[in-house]
Amino acid sequence: MAETRTATVSSIKAEHPIAFVRVLNCGRAEQQEEHRYGSRKPQFWWVFFGKRWVPLPLQCFLIGHRDGLVLFDTGIDPRIVSDKRYIEQATGRFLLPRIFQLHVNELDRIDHVLRKAGVAARDIRTAVISHLHFDHVGGIAQIPQAELLVSAREWSILSEPHPEREWILREHIEIPSAKWRQITFAPADDPLFEGFDGIHDVAGDGSLILLPTPGHTKGSMSMLIRREGENPILLVGDLTYEATLLERNVVPGTGDRDTLLASFAKVKRLRERLPGLAVVASHDFAAEEMVSRAMGNA
Ligand SMILES: [Zn+2]
Repeated sequence: MAETRTATVSSIKAEHPIAFVRVLNCGRAEQQEEHRYGSRKPQFWWVFFGKRWVPLPLQCFLIGHRDGLVLFDTGIDPRIVSDKRYIEQATGRFLLPRIFQLHVNELDRIDHVLRKAGVAARDIRTAVISHLHFDHVGGIAQIPQAELLVSAREWSILSEPHPEREWILREHIEIPSAKWRQITFAPADDPLFEGFDGIHDVAGDGSLILLPTPGHTKGSMSMLIRREGENPILLVGDLTYEATLLERNVVPGTGDRDTLLASFAKVKRLRERLPGLAVVASHDFAAEEMVSRAMGNA
């Protein structure tokens, strides 16, 4: 989509660049209660001894922008349940069922999900990848034409020792067909974004703004969607599993606690400056309702 843009985004063009925002259902799963709602116990404890499972939806988002269709994340690859070799490392294969119980099938692959929504996968022009976990990059093979935007910080995890220990699995990321583009965040001159470590204007018109919100992973990012006359939406990926948890500063049982809390505070400050901002998390059952409410409200 846009080349490197300047960070002047104080005004949104009047021609309504965003036609729609839709929540796409990419399957469902269960995670341990301590994973979703946090725990005083260390992560290894709930991974091995946790017994209470709670449901979560796997969701991604489709945005109709006048320059083309944009995806925010790409869902999960159903081969994760049908192909025993999908995860290359034995440790990961062993741990996965302790972290997620996955209920996905072939129809949950992004091209099928898009077709159900009346869209051809080949028409996706850009996919913003909030972070590199497998339930967010699982559809990239189905959209080889799309430019895949990832933060340079997230990408750099691939060259650190053992990215697979953070569930960043290079076998699903470094595929030949993928058109990855690393993005960096430019300083914003708009006071709206004060506190954030820069911004990236996806289309150059202020309608889709990427913001660094680390904590779940080191390079996680969120996307602010602004439509004329409607409430703005902030897609936060896995920064939180439910908007109400972020609200109450409830940190999940994974990620870096201090960094998560710092990102929570930035999101809350943004919401103070943008009244009506809907904070929408990828695994929140309330996502659909929040998005439709935001789009319906002036
Ligand atoms: Zn996720």
